[in-house]
Amino acid sequence: MHNGEVSYWWRARGIPPRRPSLPGSTEADVCIVGAGYTGLWTAYYLNRADPALRIVVLEASFAGYGASGRNGGWVTAELPGSRARYARHPRGRDGVRELEQHLRDTVDEVARVCTAEGIDAGLVKGGTLTVATSAAQEARLRHRLEQERAWGDDAGIVRYLERTELDDRLHVAGAVGALYSPHCARMQPAGLVAGLAEAVTRSGVRLYESTPVTSISAGRARTPAGDVRAPCIVRCTEGFTADIPGQHRTLLPMNSSMIVTGPLSDKAWKSIGWDRFETLGDEAHAYMYAQRTADGRIALGGRGVPYRFGSGVDHDGVIPTSTIAQLGRILRRMFPAATEAGLEHAWCGVLGVPRDWCATVTLDPQTGLGWAGGYTGHGVAASNLAGRTLADLVRRVPSPLTTLPWVGHRSPRWEPEPARWAGVHGLYALYRTADRLESARHTPRTSVLARMGDLISGIPH
Ligand SMILES: Cc1cc2nc3c(=O)[nH]c(=O)nc-3n(C[C@H](O)[C@H](O)[C@H](O)COP(=O)(O)OP(=O)(O)OC[C@H]3O[C@@H](n4cnc5c(N)ncnc54)[C@H](O)[C@@H]3O)c2cc1C
Repeated sequence: MHNGEVSYWWRARGIPPRRPSLPGSTEADVCIVGAGYTGLWTAYYLNRADPALRIVVLEASFAGYGASGRNGGWVTAELPGSRARYARHPRGRDGVRELEQHLRDTVDEVARVCTAEGIDAGLVKGGTLTVATSAAQEARLRHRLEQERAWGDDAGIVRYLERTELDDRLHVAGAVGALYSPHCARMQPAGLVAGLAEAVTRSGVRLYESTPVTSISAGRARTPAGDVRAPCIVRCTEGFTADIPGQHRTLLPMNSSMIVTGPLSDKAWKSIGWDRFETLGDEAHAYMYAQRTADGRIALGGRGVPYRFGSGVDHDGVIPTSTIAQLGRILRRMFPAATEAGLEHAWCGVLGVPRDWCATVTLDPQTGLGWAGGYTGHGVAASNLAGRTLADLVRRVPSPLTTLPWVGHRSPRWEPEPARWAGVHGLYALYRTADRLESARHTPRTSVLARMGDLISGIPH
C-alpha cells in the first residue's frame, strides 16, 4: 500500500525529471507564480494570443505538484461558488447564467486542447452522477433539482434518474436515485498537467521548477535565486497561498484525500457496470467523489482531516491511516464487488477555499498584479476558464470573459487562529454527525446540524 508519493496519478505516469530552476535574476513581460492548471492555462492562452510575449513561470516544486496532479479527475462544469453571491454583481442573474454556460463550454475546450496538443489524459465525457443513499439524501437531491429548475436549468443540464435508470448505468449499493448532468468529463489529472507543461514549454514559455517565490510586489517576484521583474505578475498558488507574505488569511488550504483500488476483475465490473465512465458523487454532507479510471480501478475521495492548524499543508500527500480506513469503508459500502481488488495507494492534497466560498479572477491594472483561484474543489475546468480570462485581462483586451461576475470578486479574509481551526473542525464534526444520524434514519435533526455547520463556515446554499 503506497501512501503519499504525491499521488497515484503521478506514480502511474512517473514523475518527470525536474526542469532547471531559475538561473538568476531576469526580466519578462508576464511572470506567473505556480505551475498548476491555473498558471499553465494562463501561460498557454497568453502564448497562443501573443507568441511574442516573454512569459516566465516559477514553480516551487514541479509542474503539477499541487492539487492539479492529485485531484479526482472531474472536469466539471460545477460553479466554484454560490449563484446567489455572484448574482450580487451588477450583472445579476444574467451574469451568473453566462458564467455557468462558459463553464459548460469549458469541458469541451479542455477536451479540444487535449486533442490539439496530443495530451494523453484519458479524457472521456460521460457526465456526472450524484447518488442518494438515504431518504434524507434523496430529499436533498429533489430539493436541489427544484433549485436548478428555478435558475433555469432544464433537463439537458440536469435531470433526475430513478433507481432503475441509475442501475442501467451504474450499480451503487443502497442508492435510491441520482441526479445526472452530461456536463462533466473524467480524466487522469497528472496526464493533463504534464501535457500542458510540455505544450507551454514547447512553444517558448520559460518554466523554472524548484524555484519558490518568497514575495510578490508590483513589478517583482522574489526568489532565492534572484528576482523576476515583469509589469504583470500573476499569482496562481491556490491551496499554498497562505505561505506567501501578506496572504496568510486569503485562502484556507482545505484537505481532500483519495484512495485507489487495484484493477477490478471483469466479473466485478460486470456487476458494477459504469461503462459510460460518469464521475460519481453522493449527497452526504461530508460527500465522496469517485471515478472509474482508464486503467480499470476505482479512485475515490473525501474530506479526511479537513484542515491543519496554521494553514499547514501535507508532506508529499501522506495521509493518516484513519483516513484511509474511513475512505475504504465508503468504497466497500458502495461497491462491495470492489473489495477483492484491495487498496493500492492513498494520498491527499490541498484546495483553496475563500471565506465566502466564491472563486475570483483578478488583475489590478494599476499594479499589474493578478491572481485566480479559490475554486473550493471545482477547479479543473474553472482554472481553464480563469486562464483564458487572465490572458485577456493581462493583454487588456475586453472580451465576454472579462465581464463575468467572478472577475474582480473580492472575498473577505479568514479569521486568525485558533478560530479558523476550530471553525473548520467544528463544521466537519457537525457534518459527520448529521451523516451518521441520517444513515440511522434520524432525519429531522440532521438538517439543523448541517445548517449550523453551514452558518459557522459561511458555505452558501
Ligand atoms: C484531492 C483533491 C481532489 C480534487 N478533485 C477535483 C475534481 O475532481 N474536480 C475539480 O474540478 N477539482 C478538484 N480539485 C480541485 C482542483 O484540483 C484544483 O482546484 C486545481 O487543481 C487548482 O489548480 P491551481 O493551478 O490553481 O493550483 P495547484 O494545482 O495547487 O497549483 C499551485 C502550484 O503553485 C505552486 N506554488 C505554491 N506556492 C508557490 C510559491 N511560493 N512559489 C512558486 N510556486 C508555488 C505549487 O507547488 C503548485 O504546483 C481537487 C483537489 C484535491 C486536492
